[in-house]
Amino acid sequence: MSQALKITLRSGKDDAVRRFHPWVFSGAIKKTEGRAYDGCLAGVYSNKDEYLGSGIFQDATIAVRMMAFAPEQPDDFGVDFWENKIRRAFDLRKLTGLTDSPHTNVYRLIHGEGDHLPGLIIDHYNGHLVIQIHSTGLYSYLTPIAGALKKVYGNKLRSISDKSRETLPAAFWENRSYEKVLFGECRQSEVLENGHRFLIDIEGGQKTGFYIDQRDNRKLLTEYCKENKVLNTFCYSGGFSVYALKAGASQVDSLDSSAKAIALAEENVSLNIGPADIHRTITADAMSYLNGMEEDYNVIILDPPAYAKHQHVKHKAVQGYKRLNLAALKKIKKGGVLFTFSCSQVVDMQLFRSTVMAAAIQSGRNVRILHQLTQPADHPVNIFHPEGQYLKGLVLFVD
Ligand code: SAH
Repeated sequence: MSQALKITLRSGKDDAVRRFHPWVFSGAIKKTEGRAYDGCLAGVYSNKDEYLGSGIFQDATIAVRMMAFAPEQPDDFGVDFWENKIRRAFDLRKLTGLTDSPHTNVYRLIHGEGDHLPGLIIDHYNGHLVIQIHSTGLYSYLTPIAGALKKVYGNKLRSISDKSRETLPAAFWENRSYEKVLFGECRQSEVLENGHRFLIDIEGGQKTGFYIDQRDNRKLLTEYCKENKVLNTFCYSGGFSVYALKAGASQVDSLDSSAKAIALAEENVSLNIGPADIHRTITADAMSYLNGMEEDYNVIILDPPAYAKHQHVKHKAVQGYKRLNLAALKKIKKGGVLFTFSCSQVVDMQLFRSTVMAAAIQSGRNVRILHQLTQPADHPVNIFHPEGQYLKGLVLFVD
C-alpha cells in the first residue's frame, strides 16, 4: 500500500512540525520526491534535510496528516504500526478508569488529533467498536486498523463497524464498495454509562451511535435535578433525560426535531425507569418550542448540533447561539439552572461565553456562571491543536 514519498518543507515551515502540530499544509511544501498519491506514506524533512516525522499524504490543503514524529520513522503504516498507536490510546483510557469500570463501558478509544492520529475516530460500545475516518488518505488503512483492533481487544471484541460513509465526500464513494460491518455482528448494543443503561443504534444512529462526550456533564446535571422540572432540548437518545429522571426530577420533557431520536429517548427512559408519566416527549423545533412554552422549567439543557462547521459561517452560528440562549434565559424560572453547550469547533470558549453574555444582557436576567464545562478525558486535546477542544458548556444560575 505505502510507498514512501519524500516531502521537503520550505525554510521556516518546520517549526510547526517540530512542535508536534498534526498537519502540514500544501503551502509549506518546497518539493516532493517520489510518487504522490492519496494515502501514501510521506516522510517529512526540513529545508536542511533533517527528518521531522511521517504522515499520510493527501492532495488537498492539508497535504500531510502527521502520524509519527522523529525519531519514530515507520517503514509502513501496517498492522504493527496501528497496533502500537492503538495500545497507547487504550492505555490512556485505562489510566482514566474507563476500560475496566463496572459502571461505564462506553468510551472514545481514538480521538483524532488528541491521540496523535489525525482524522481517526474510534468509539467503544461494550465490546463493539465503531470507526469513523475523516480523510480519504487515511481510509486506505482501514483494513490494517481493523486488524490492529482485533489484536488489542482479543476475545473481548464483539464487532467492528465502519461508519465513514457519512464522513467522507460522496464523490469518494463512487465506484467503491462499502462494508458496514468489518468483523462480527452488530446492529444494536446496550451500554452502561455511570450506571445508566442505553441502547445504541450503531447502524442507523447519529455519529457513531451515541454522544459519548457528554458523560461527565450528564453526571453533573444530576446535582441539580431533585424535585425539579427539567427541559432537555436537542435530546437525541435521551442521555440527559435518563440522568435527570434517575436523579429524582419531578418531570422531564425531552425535545428533538427528529422523530427517530425521540423514539430512542423513549426507549432509553423505559429501559432505566420503566413506564413513566413524569417523562414527556416533544417532537418539535427547539426555538419554536422555547418561544411558545410556559415559564415553569427549573432546569433547561441546550445541546444543539454544531451551528458552524466552517470558519466562514462563524458569524451566523454565533447569532444562532445568541437567539437560542436568549429564548431559554427569558423563559427559565427564577432561580433556575441553564446547561448550555456548543460543539462548534470554530467557536471557542471565549467567543461562546461572550455570546451567552450578550444573550444574558438582552434578557435582562441576573446570570451567574456556576461551572465551565468541556469534553471528558477520553476526548483529549493535543495542546498543539487547541481546536480539538470542541465541546464548551456553561452552567448558569438565573435569577
Ligand atoms: N444532547 C444529546 C446530543 C444532541 S445532538 C445527547 O446528549 O445525546 C443534536 C440533536 O439536535 C440531534 O438529535 C438533532 O436531531 C437535534 N436537532 C437538530 N436541529 C434541531 C432543532 N432545530 N430543534 C430540535 N432539535 C434539533
